[in-house]
Amino acid sequence: MATKPKAFRPCHLPSAEERERAYDRHRDQSRPGREFYKTHRWQRERADFLNEPENQLCRRCMAAGLLNAGQLRKDGTPQTDPRRMHLVVHHTVRHRGNPEIFWDRSKWEALCPDHHDIDAQAEERAAGRGGGRKFTP
Ligand SMILES: [Zn+2]
Repeated sequence: MATKPKAFRPCHLPSAEERERAYDRHRDQSRPGREFYKTHRWQRERADFLNEPENQLCRRCMAAGLLNAGQLRKDGTPQTDPRRMHLVVHHTVRHRGNPEIFWDRSKWEALCPDHHDIDAQAEERAAGRGGGRKFTP
């Protein structure tokens, strides 16, 4: 007896897995050093870093007077997205795939996802996809 197909995907279209792999390849090319994030060393070191007592709160929220261990958005309202209720390690110096910068913990800081995204976006803009520099004071 024939078994039921798992998904109704036309076979000329890539599967979710294939799309994800293609996306990863694209990211690897556009973000040098991304391969470091896939290593066990990174998993271990970032967990160690985020376990340290001084890294329990987002640095930038703290600078703004907010004690945020990942339960808040940067404006102080409760974080409702469970995938964003944590802190992330941010590189304060752009590593551009340079392992010495990437693994240098003195260049790491704990940030909430909101603050991390702001920086990541600013970096991508600064990386200059064909753009003149836009600066508004
Ligand atoms: Zn923050």
